[in-house]
Amino acid sequence: MSQPDIPFPNSPVVPTMVAETHAIEFSCHKGIGCWNACCSNIDISLTPYDVLRMKKRLGITSTEFLKDYTVPYEMEKDGIAGIKFRPIEGGSACRFMKPEGCDIYTDRPTACRYYPVALLSMRKQDEYVDRDSYAIVKEDHCKGHEVNRSITIADYRKEQGLEEYDELARGWRQLVLKKKSSGPTIGKPSLRSRQLFFMACYDIDKFREFVQMDSFGKLFELPAEEKEAILKDDVALLQFAFRFLRQVLFGEESISLNAEAAQERLAKVQEKRLIEEREAAKKRALEAEQEMGGEEGFD
Ligand code: SF4
Ligand code: SF4
Repeated sequence: MSQPDIPFPNSPVVPTMVAETHAIEFSCHKGIGCWNACCSNIDISLTPYDVLRMKKRLGITSTEFLKDYTVPYEMEKDGIAGIKFRPIEGGSACRFMKPEGCDIYTDRPTACRYYPVALLSMRKQDEYVDRDSYAIVKEDHCKGHEVNRSITIADYRKEQGLEEYDELARGWRQLVLKKKSSGPTIGKPSLRSRQLFFMACYDIDKFREFVQMDSFGKLFELPAEEKEAILKDDVALLQFAFRFLRQVLFGEESISLNAEAAQERLAKVQEKRLIEEREAAKKRALEAEQEMGGEEGFD
């Protein structure tokens, strides 16, 4: 089983996993003694849907959002790109933290909505579907656990608007799990595929430009109506991005290819690979020659 993705890596997560029916004793409200403590020291991973919501809220492009509000990181050592919130300059607090609370509350990210619950998506190697399970994060500073309110995780997810957030980021979670579970058999993805993954998942405005390029239109045969619909709707475009990545990274074909253009592209890739192999062989031969020369010099 692949490792779960815990969004609070430095937190003391209770190691037992619980189901949606599990009830937690928790409530967070303005006026509580620890108000904003959780937002003062952040380590928050973002999902692609989090980016859509926040860039829209801020009225900026995804490219600007990534540059100003996030830092990239590598999820485990699988070469899977992730992004985290960039805290305030020289500190650890969230840039959206205000004395009265979260400045982007209705568009706050998934991890903030879940807290103090952690979503653990996982997938058995022999199963296609992912399963959700949950863990509870208990940190000393959080007094919300001392409030006498019992709520099941299922109801907590509803209360926090998480059903929509999880549904619209599901395609991304599946891609991450698929890559993690295929791990060493496929090996570290190439730089090009890591760049594609990053752009398609997090930089939706760049991905839109990519889909509008002539080269994309030449290779992928998307019906005009469908293309128009996805280009004008970020959410639809994001779901298409996950579909596109399943095709280019895992060969799950769902977008028709123009046979002639695909053949042409394959020939170009093969030609490029041949040139690279020849260059590598030349380099190896040159190195061997230099080594021999060096050895002769010591005689
Ligand atoms: S986005 Fe809002 S809830 Fe999340 S850490 Fe920042 S201030 Fe807190
Ligand atoms: S109760 Fe917990 S989640 Fe709410 S403000 Fe305090 S530390 Fe943050």
